[in-house]
Amino acid sequence: MPRSLERSKLQHRKALGKLPLGVSSNFRYWGEDKTIYIDHGKGGRLWDIDGNEYIDYRMGYGPGILGYADPRVDEAARAGMEVGGVFALSTEREYEVAKRISKMVPAAELVRFSNSGTEAVMAALRLARAHTGKDSHIVVEGGYHGVFDSVLWYADIEEWDPATGDPPIEADSEGIPQVLKKLAYFTPLNDADYLEDVLKRHHQDIGAFLIEPMMGNCCSITATLEYVKAARELCDKYNVVMIVDEVKTGFRVARGGVQELMGFKADLCTFAKAVGNGYPISVVAGREDIMRRIGDGVIHGGTYTCHSVALAAAEKTLEILDETDALESIAQYGEAMQRGMSEILGNRGIAHSFVGHPAMGGLFFHETPPNNYRDWLNSDYTFYDTMAPELHELGVLCEPDSREPWFICEAHAKDDSLTTTLAAFEKAVDITMDTMNNSELKP
Ligand code: PMP
Repeated sequence: MPRSLERSKLQHRKALGKLPLGVSSNFRYWGEDKTIYIDHGKGGRLWDIDGNEYIDYRMGYGPGILGYADPRVDEAARAGMEVGGVFALSTEREYEVAKRISKMVPAAELVRFSNSGTEAVMAALRLARAHTGKDSHIVVEGGYHGVFDSVLWYADIEEWDPATGDPPIEADSEGIPQVLKKLAYFTPLNDADYLEDVLKRHHQDIGAFLIEPMMGNCCSITATLEYVKAARELCDKYNVVMIVDEVKTGFRVARGGVQELMGFKADLCTFAKAVGNGYPISVVAGREDIMRRIGDGVIHGGTYTCHSVALAAAEKTLEILDETDALESIAQYGEAMQRGMSEILGNRGIAHSFVGHPAMGGLFFHETPPNNYRDWLNSDYTFYDTMAPELHELGVLCEPDSREPWFICEAHAKDDSLTTTLAAFEKAVDITMDTMNNSELKP
Protein backbone atom coordinates (compact mmCIF):
# COMPACT_ATOMS: atom_id res chain seq x y z
CA MET A 1 0.00 0.00 0.00
CA PRO A 2 1.53 3.35 -0.95
CA ARG A 3 1.45 5.86 1.85
CA SER A 4 -1.50 8.23 1.86
CA LEU A 5 -0.73 11.94 1.75
CA GLU A 6 -4.34 13.03 1.35
CA ARG A 7 -4.44 15.32 4.39
CA SER A 8 -1.11 16.89 3.49
CA LYS A 9 -2.35 17.53 -0.03
CA LEU A 10 -5.53 19.17 1.28
CA GLN A 11 -3.51 21.20 3.76
CA HIS A 12 -1.18 22.32 1.01
CA ARG A 13 -4.05 23.56 -1.14
CA LYS A 14 -5.49 25.41 1.86
CA ALA A 15 -2.12 26.84 2.90
CA LEU A 16 -1.46 28.18 -0.61
CA GLY A 17 -4.27 30.65 0.06
CA LYS A 18 -2.30 32.34 2.84
CA LEU A 19 1.35 31.34 2.55
CA PRO A 20 3.48 31.66 -0.61
CA LEU A 21 4.17 28.08 -1.79
CA GLY A 22 2.05 26.97 1.18
CA VAL A 23 5.09 26.89 3.48
CA SER A 24 7.25 29.18 5.62
CA SER A 25 10.62 28.43 4.00
CA ASN A 26 11.06 27.79 0.26
CA PHE A 27 13.00 24.58 0.95
CA ARG A 28 9.94 23.00 2.62
CA TYR A 29 8.01 23.01 -0.62
CA TRP A 30 8.43 19.59 -2.24
CA GLY A 31 5.93 20.02 -5.07
CA GLU A 32 2.14 20.00 -5.47
CA ASP A 33 1.49 16.46 -4.26
CA LYS A 34 4.60 15.86 -2.19
CA THR A 35 4.72 18.72 0.30
CA ILE A 36 4.15 17.11 3.66
CA TYR A 37 2.91 18.68 6.87
CA ILE A 38 4.13 17.43 10.20
CA ASP A 39 1.97 16.57 13.16
CA HIS A 40 4.82 16.06 15.60
CA GLY A 41 8.33 14.78 16.10
CA LYS A 42 9.80 12.68 18.87
CA GLY A 43 13.35 11.37 19.15
CA GLY A 44 14.61 10.52 15.66
CA ARG A 45 11.10 10.20 14.21
CA LEU A 46 8.42 12.33 12.61
CA TRP A 47 4.69 11.77 12.13
CA ASP A 48 2.93 13.61 9.32
CA ILE A 49 -0.70 14.71 9.50
CA ASP A 50 -1.77 11.59 7.59
CA GLY A 51 -0.32 9.50 10.41
CA ASN A 52 2.70 8.25 8.41
CA GLU A 53 5.70 7.57 10.62
CA TYR A 54 9.23 8.30 9.39
CA ILE A 55 12.69 7.71 10.73
CA ASP A 56 14.03 11.15 10.00
CA TYR A 57 17.56 11.75 8.67
CA ARG A 58 16.99 15.40 7.83
CA MET A 59 16.55 16.41 11.46
CA GLY A 60 15.46 19.88 10.41
CA TYR A 61 18.70 20.28 8.35
CA GLY A 62 20.75 19.54 11.41
CA PRO A 63 19.46 21.15 14.60
CA GLY A 64 18.15 17.90 16.05
CA ILE A 65 21.38 16.57 17.50
CA LEU A 66 19.82 14.76 20.44
CA GLY A 67 16.38 14.21 18.92
CA TYR A 68 13.04 15.98 18.75
CA ALA A 69 11.39 16.91 22.04
CA ASP A 70 14.36 15.71 24.07
CA PRO A 71 13.03 15.60 27.65
CA ARG A 72 16.28 16.90 29.20
CA VAL A 73 16.44 19.93 26.92
CA ASP A 74 12.71 20.60 27.06
CA GLU A 75 12.76 20.58 30.85
CA ALA A 76 15.54 23.18 30.79
CA ALA A 77 13.61 25.20 28.19
CA ARG A 78 10.50 25.15 30.39
CA ALA A 79 12.57 26.49 33.27
CA GLY A 80 13.92 29.08 30.83
CA MET A 81 10.34 30.15 30.13
CA GLU A 82 9.95 30.98 33.81
CA VAL A 83 12.85 33.43 33.48
CA GLY A 84 10.60 35.58 31.35
CA GLY A 85 11.76 35.84 27.74
CA VAL A 86 13.70 38.88 26.54
CA PHE A 87 14.29 42.07 28.50
CA ALA A 88 16.56 44.21 26.34
CA LEU A 89 19.00 43.46 29.17
CA SER A 90 21.39 40.59 29.89
CA THR A 91 21.27 37.59 32.19
CA GLU A 92 23.98 35.66 34.04
CA ARG A 93 23.43 32.52 31.98
CA GLU A 94 24.87 34.16 28.83
CA TYR A 95 28.34 34.15 30.39
CA GLU A 96 27.98 30.52 31.49
CA VAL A 97 27.04 29.35 27.99
CA ALA A 98 29.75 31.48 26.37
CA LYS A 99 32.30 29.91 28.77
CA ARG A 100 31.19 26.41 27.74
CA ILE A 101 31.52 27.30 24.05
CA SER A 102 35.05 28.67 24.57
CA LYS A 103 35.99 25.47 26.39
CA MET A 104 34.66 23.27 23.59
CA VAL A 105 35.98 25.39 20.70
CA PRO A 106 39.43 26.89 21.37
CA ALA A 107 39.08 29.42 18.52
CA ALA A 108 36.02 30.88 20.28
CA GLU A 109 37.95 33.25 22.52
CA LEU A 110 34.97 35.58 22.71
CA VAL A 111 31.36 34.80 21.94
CA ARG A 112 28.22 36.64 20.87
CA PHE A 113 24.79 35.08 20.45
CA SER A 114 22.26 35.56 17.64
CA ASN A 115 19.10 33.74 16.63
CA SER A 116 19.84 32.05 13.30
CA GLY A 117 22.74 30.85 11.22
CA THR A 118 22.08 33.68 8.79
CA GLU A 119 22.46 36.31 11.50
CA ALA A 120 25.66 34.76 12.83
CA VAL A 121 27.34 34.63 9.40
CA MET A 122 26.16 38.17 8.69
CA ALA A 123 27.81 39.34 11.91
CA ALA A 124 31.02 37.48 11.10
CA LEU A 125 31.27 39.10 7.69
CA ARG A 126 30.66 42.54 9.15
CA LEU A 127 33.38 41.96 11.74
CA ALA A 128 35.80 40.80 9.05
CA ARG A 129 35.13 43.93 7.01
CA ALA A 130 35.60 46.15 10.04
CA HIS A 131 38.80 44.40 11.06
CA THR A 132 40.47 44.45 7.65
CA GLY A 133 38.88 47.54 6.14
CA LYS A 134 38.14 45.42 3.05
CA ASP A 135 34.58 44.83 1.84
CA SER A 136 34.77 41.78 -0.43
CA HIS A 137 34.78 38.12 0.51
CA ILE A 138 35.49 34.72 -1.03
CA VAL A 139 32.97 31.89 -0.84
CA VAL A 140 33.66 28.25 -1.73
CA GLU A 141 31.70 27.12 -4.80
CA GLY A 142 28.61 25.13 -3.81
CA GLY A 143 28.61 26.63 -0.30
CA TYR A 144 25.49 27.94 1.41
CA HIS A 145 25.66 30.46 4.21
CA GLY A 146 22.12 31.69 4.76
CA VAL A 147 19.48 33.97 3.30
CA PHE A 148 21.11 37.42 3.43
CA ASP A 149 22.04 39.47 0.40
CA SER A 150 25.85 39.27 0.63
CA VAL A 151 25.95 35.47 0.38
CA LEU A 152 23.07 34.74 -1.99
CA TRP A 153 25.39 34.58 -4.99
CA TYR A 154 26.83 31.64 -6.87
CA ALA A 155 29.44 30.98 -9.52
CA ASP A 156 27.53 29.61 -12.48
CA ILE A 157 29.75 26.67 -13.36
CA GLU A 158 26.99 24.88 -15.27
CA GLU A 159 26.57 27.55 -17.94
CA TRP A 160 30.23 28.47 -17.98
CA ASP A 161 32.59 28.36 -20.93
CA PRO A 162 36.14 28.29 -19.43
CA ALA A 163 37.43 30.04 -22.54
CA THR A 164 35.56 33.18 -21.43
CA GLY A 165 37.52 33.65 -18.15
CA ASP A 166 36.18 33.24 -14.61
CA PRO A 167 32.72 31.65 -14.13
CA PRO A 168 29.93 34.26 -14.21
CA ILE A 169 28.50 35.22 -10.83
CA GLU A 170 24.71 35.14 -10.49
CA ALA A 171 22.26 36.00 -7.72
CA ASP A 172 20.32 33.16 -6.07
CA SER A 173 17.24 35.34 -5.80
CA GLU A 174 15.59 38.31 -7.36
CA GLY A 175 15.57 41.41 -5.19
CA ILE A 176 19.25 41.21 -4.32
CA PRO A 177 21.03 44.50 -5.09
CA GLN A 178 23.30 44.00 -8.10
CA VAL A 179 25.82 46.36 -6.51
CA LEU A 180 26.72 43.53 -4.11
CA LYS A 181 27.90 41.30 -6.95
CA LYS A 182 31.31 42.90 -7.04
CA LEU A 183 31.87 41.91 -3.40
CA ALA A 184 31.60 38.16 -4.00
CA TYR A 185 34.50 36.00 -5.25
CA PHE A 186 34.41 32.23 -5.60
CA THR A 187 36.91 29.41 -5.39
CA PRO A 188 36.54 25.63 -5.78
CA LEU A 189 37.17 23.57 -2.64
CA ASN A 190 40.50 21.77 -2.41
CA ASP A 191 42.33 23.89 -4.95
CA ALA A 192 44.79 26.05 -3.02
CA ASP A 193 46.41 27.35 -6.21
CA TYR A 194 43.09 28.74 -7.38
CA LEU A 195 42.53 30.39 -3.98
CA GLU A 196 45.99 31.90 -4.08
CA ASP A 197 45.40 33.19 -7.58
CA VAL A 198 42.16 34.94 -6.51
CA LEU A 199 43.97 36.44 -3.51
CA LYS A 200 46.97 37.55 -5.55
CA ARG A 201 44.68 39.36 -7.94
CA HIS A 202 42.17 40.84 -5.49
CA HIS A 203 43.58 40.75 -1.94
CA GLN A 204 43.39 44.52 -1.65
CA ASP A 205 39.56 44.16 -1.76
CA ILE A 206 39.04 40.86 0.07
CA GLY A 207 38.47 40.92 3.83
CA ALA A 208 37.06 37.45 4.43
CA PHE A 209 37.31 33.85 3.28
CA LEU A 210 34.08 32.06 4.13
CA ILE A 211 34.42 28.30 4.23
CA GLU A 212 32.50 25.29 5.46
CA PRO A 213 35.33 22.72 5.44
CA MET A 214 32.78 19.91 5.49
CA MET A 215 30.14 21.20 3.11
CA GLY A 216 26.88 20.49 4.89
CA ASN A 217 24.95 21.87 1.95
CA CYS A 218 26.94 20.03 -0.68
CA CYS A 219 26.93 16.35 0.09
CA SER A 220 29.37 16.85 3.01
CA ILE A 221 32.23 17.16 0.53
CA THR A 222 35.25 17.67 2.72
CA ALA A 223 38.38 19.77 2.53
CA THR A 224 41.67 17.93 2.78
CA LEU A 225 43.93 18.75 5.72
CA GLU A 226 46.52 20.11 3.28
CA TYR A 227 43.96 22.43 1.75
CA VAL A 228 42.79 23.77 5.11
CA LYS A 229 46.39 24.35 6.14
CA ALA A 230 47.18 26.15 2.89
CA ALA A 231 44.01 28.24 3.15
CA ARG A 232 44.88 29.17 6.73
CA GLU A 233 48.35 30.31 5.64
CA LEU A 234 47.00 32.26 2.66
CA CYS A 235 44.49 34.09 4.84
CA ASP A 236 47.30 35.12 7.20
CA LYS A 237 49.54 36.15 4.33
CA TYR A 238 46.92 38.36 2.65
CA ASN A 239 45.29 39.80 5.80
CA VAL A 240 42.03 37.99 5.19
CA VAL A 241 39.79 36.85 8.06
CA MET A 242 39.16 33.11 7.86
CA ILE A 243 35.51 32.56 8.77
CA VAL A 244 34.70 28.92 9.34
CA ASP A 245 30.97 28.39 9.05
CA GLU A 246 30.18 25.60 11.49
CA VAL A 247 26.42 26.18 11.42
CA LYS A 248 25.99 22.51 10.50
CA THR A 249 29.22 20.89 11.67
CA GLY A 250 29.46 22.70 15.01
CA PHE A 251 28.88 20.57 18.12
CA ARG A 252 28.05 17.68 15.77
CA VAL A 253 31.14 16.21 14.11
CA ALA A 254 33.16 16.72 17.31
CA ARG A 255 32.79 18.72 20.50
CA GLY A 256 35.02 21.33 18.91
CA GLY A 257 33.42 20.95 15.48
CA VAL A 258 35.26 20.57 12.23
CA GLN A 259 38.12 22.68 13.59
CA GLU A 260 38.83 19.99 16.18
CA LEU A 261 38.61 17.24 13.57
CA MET A 262 41.01 19.02 11.26
CA GLY A 263 43.27 20.55 13.89
CA PHE A 264 43.19 24.22 12.98
CA LYS A 265 41.75 27.49 14.28
CA ALA A 266 39.45 29.91 12.49
CA ASP A 267 39.70 33.65 13.01
CA LEU A 268 35.93 33.75 13.34
CA CYS A 269 33.47 30.87 13.43
CA THR A 270 29.71 30.57 13.36
CA PHE A 271 27.44 27.98 14.99
CA ALA A 272 23.71 27.46 15.01
CA LYS A 273 21.90 24.20 14.40
CA ALA A 274 23.06 21.88 17.16
CA VAL A 275 23.63 24.62 19.73
CA GLY A 276 20.12 24.44 21.21
CA ASN A 277 18.86 21.11 19.82
CA GLY A 278 16.42 23.06 17.64
CA TYR A 279 15.66 26.06 19.84
CA PRO A 280 16.57 29.19 17.87
CA ILE A 281 20.01 30.34 18.96
CA SER A 282 23.26 30.87 17.08
CA VAL A 283 26.78 31.99 17.80
CA VAL A 284 29.46 34.13 16.25
CA ALA A 285 32.78 33.63 18.00
CA GLY A 286 36.48 34.01 17.47
CA ARG A 287 39.71 35.85 18.02
CA GLU A 288 39.58 38.33 20.84
CA ASP A 289 41.09 41.20 18.87
CA ILE A 290 38.47 40.84 16.13
CA MET A 291 35.52 40.17 18.45
CA ARG A 292 36.40 43.24 20.57
CA ARG A 293 35.51 45.34 17.53
CA ILE A 294 31.93 44.76 18.68
CA GLY A 295 31.30 47.80 20.82
CA ASP A 296 34.31 49.49 19.27
CA GLY A 297 32.70 50.59 16.03
CA VAL A 298 30.82 47.43 15.10
CA ILE A 299 27.15 46.92 15.83
CA HIS A 300 25.73 43.56 16.83
CA GLY A 301 22.54 42.73 18.67
CA GLY A 302 18.83 42.24 18.24
CA THR A 303 15.64 42.18 20.28
CA TYR A 304 15.50 38.41 20.49
CA THR A 305 19.15 37.56 21.10
CA CYS A 306 19.49 35.24 24.09
CA HIS A 307 15.81 34.63 24.62
CA SER A 308 15.64 32.88 27.98
CA VAL A 309 14.03 29.73 26.51
CA ALA A 310 16.59 29.25 23.73
CA LEU A 311 19.49 30.11 26.02
CA ALA A 312 18.41 27.60 28.66
CA ALA A 313 18.00 24.97 25.94
CA ALA A 314 21.50 25.75 24.65
CA GLU A 315 23.01 25.49 28.11
CA LYS A 316 21.52 22.01 28.58
CA THR A 317 22.26 20.79 25.04
CA LEU A 318 25.90 21.85 25.20
CA GLU A 319 26.30 20.33 28.65
CA ILE A 320 25.02 17.00 27.31
CA LEU A 321 27.21 17.15 24.19
CA ASP A 322 30.27 18.09 26.22
CA GLU A 323 29.87 15.79 29.19
CA THR A 324 28.20 12.63 27.89
CA ASP A 325 29.04 10.20 25.10
CA ALA A 326 26.17 11.48 22.91
CA LEU A 327 28.48 12.45 20.02
CA GLU A 328 30.27 9.10 20.21
CA SER A 329 27.00 7.17 19.97
CA ILE A 330 25.86 9.40 17.09
CA ALA A 331 29.09 8.68 15.20
CA GLN A 332 28.85 4.95 15.94
CA TYR A 333 25.29 4.83 14.67
CA GLY A 334 26.32 6.70 11.51
CA GLU A 335 29.20 4.28 10.95
CA ALA A 336 26.97 1.25 11.44
CA MET A 337 24.38 2.70 9.07
CA GLN A 338 27.02 3.35 6.41
CA ARG A 339 28.46 -0.16 6.85
CA GLY A 340 24.98 -1.65 6.43
CA MET A 341 24.24 0.47 3.36
CA SER A 342 27.62 -0.41 1.87
CA GLU A 343 26.94 -4.10 2.26
CA ILE A 344 23.54 -3.79 0.58
CA LEU A 345 24.95 -1.74 -2.31
CA GLY A 346 28.15 -3.81 -2.57
CA ASN A 347 26.17 -7.08 -2.81
CA ARG A 348 24.41 -5.63 -5.82
CA GLY A 349 27.58 -4.32 -7.46
CA ILE A 350 26.57 -0.68 -7.09
CA ALA A 351 29.55 1.67 -6.90
CA HIS A 352 29.22 4.13 -4.03
CA SER A 353 31.08 6.09 -1.40
CA PHE A 354 30.35 8.11 1.71
CA VAL A 355 31.61 11.63 2.23
CA GLY A 356 32.07 13.74 5.35
CA HIS A 357 31.51 12.53 8.89
CA PRO A 358 29.17 9.68 9.92
CA ALA A 359 27.09 12.17 11.97
CA MET A 360 26.29 13.99 8.71
CA GLY A 361 27.43 11.74 5.88
CA GLY A 362 26.79 12.28 2.20
CA LEU A 363 25.95 9.21 0.10
CA PHE A 364 27.46 9.28 -3.35
CA PHE A 365 27.02 6.82 -6.21
CA HIS A 366 30.57 6.59 -7.47
CA GLU A 367 33.53 4.70 -5.99
CA THR A 368 35.37 7.92 -5.16
CA PRO A 369 33.66 10.84 -3.46
CA PRO A 370 33.61 14.27 -5.08
CA ASN A 371 36.42 16.64 -4.23
CA ASN A 372 34.45 19.81 -4.81
CA TYR A 373 31.23 21.16 -6.26
CA ARG A 374 32.54 20.90 -9.83
CA ASP A 375 33.04 17.14 -9.34
CA TRP A 376 29.57 16.86 -7.87
CA LEU A 377 28.01 18.64 -10.85
CA ASN A 378 29.71 16.25 -13.23
CA SER A 379 28.53 13.22 -11.34
CA ASP A 380 25.45 11.11 -12.02
CA TYR A 381 23.04 11.30 -9.14
CA THR A 382 19.99 9.78 -10.81
CA PHE A 383 20.23 6.70 -8.58
CA TYR A 384 19.92 8.85 -5.45
CA ASP A 385 17.16 10.99 -6.98
CA THR A 386 15.17 7.87 -7.89
CA MET A 387 15.78 6.16 -4.55
CA ALA A 388 14.91 9.04 -2.18
CA PRO A 389 11.14 9.06 -2.90
CA GLU A 390 11.08 5.25 -2.49
CA LEU A 391 12.64 5.63 0.94
CA HIS A 392 9.98 8.17 1.86
CA GLU A 393 7.30 5.63 0.89
CA LEU A 394 9.03 3.11 3.13
CA GLY A 395 9.16 5.46 6.12
CA VAL A 396 12.74 6.74 5.90
CA LEU A 397 12.94 10.47 5.41
CA CYS A 398 16.15 11.57 3.72
CA GLU A 399 16.44 14.83 1.79
CA PRO A 400 15.23 14.47 -1.82
CA ASP A 401 18.19 16.65 -2.89
CA SER A 402 21.34 14.51 -2.80
CA ARG A 403 23.40 17.51 -1.71
CA GLU A 404 21.99 17.22 1.80
CA PRO A 405 23.79 14.82 4.13
CA TRP A 406 22.09 12.27 6.38
CA PHE A 407 21.81 13.77 9.85
CA ILE A 408 21.99 11.40 12.81
CA CYS A 409 20.71 12.22 16.29
CA GLU A 410 21.35 10.55 19.61
CA ALA A 411 17.80 9.19 19.74
CA HIS A 412 18.38 7.14 16.57
CA ALA A 413 20.91 5.09 18.48
CA LYS A 414 18.48 4.36 21.29
CA ASP A 415 15.79 2.36 19.48
CA ASP A 416 15.44 -0.03 16.53
CA SER A 417 15.98 2.70 13.92
CA LEU A 418 19.05 1.07 12.40
CA THR A 419 17.44 -2.29 11.59
CA THR A 420 14.30 -0.62 10.24
CA THR A 421 16.35 1.84 8.18
CA LEU A 422 18.51 -0.84 6.60
CA ALA A 423 15.52 -3.04 5.76
CA ALA A 424 13.85 -0.08 4.05
CA PHE A 425 17.10 0.86 2.33
CA GLU A 426 17.49 -2.64 0.88
CA LYS A 427 13.95 -2.55 -0.49
CA ALA A 428 14.38 0.97 -1.89
CA VAL A 429 17.64 -0.02 -3.62
CA ASP A 430 15.96 -3.02 -5.26
CA ILE A 431 12.99 -0.94 -6.41
CA THR A 432 15.37 1.73 -7.73
CA MET A 433 17.41 -0.88 -9.63
CA ASP A 434 14.23 -2.25 -11.20
CA THR A 435 13.04 1.23 -12.12
CA MET A 436 16.36 2.12 -13.66
CA ASN A 437 16.70 -1.18 -15.51
CA ASN A 438 13.24 -0.64 -16.96
CA SER A 439 14.05 2.84 -18.11
CA GLU A 440 16.86 4.50 -19.92
CA LEU A 441 18.33 5.67 -16.59
CA LYS A 442 21.32 3.50 -15.82
CA PRO A 443 23.40 4.06 -12.69
N1 PMP B 1 25.44 28.41 7.17
C1 PMP B 1 25.30 27.10 6.91
C2 PMP B 1 26.52 26.27 6.71
C3 PMP B 1 24.03 26.52 6.87
O1 PMP B 1 23.92 25.21 6.63
C4 PMP B 1 22.90 27.33 7.09
C5 PMP B 1 21.49 26.76 7.06
N2 PMP B 1 21.31 25.59 6.42
C6 PMP B 1 23.10 28.69 7.35
C7 PMP B 1 24.37 29.20 7.39
C8 PMP B 1 21.92 29.60 7.62
O2 PMP B 1 21.33 29.24 8.82
P1 PMP B 1 19.81 29.64 9.14
O3 PMP B 1 18.95 28.83 8.23
O4 PMP B 1 19.63 29.27 10.58
O5 PMP B 1 19.66 31.09 8.91
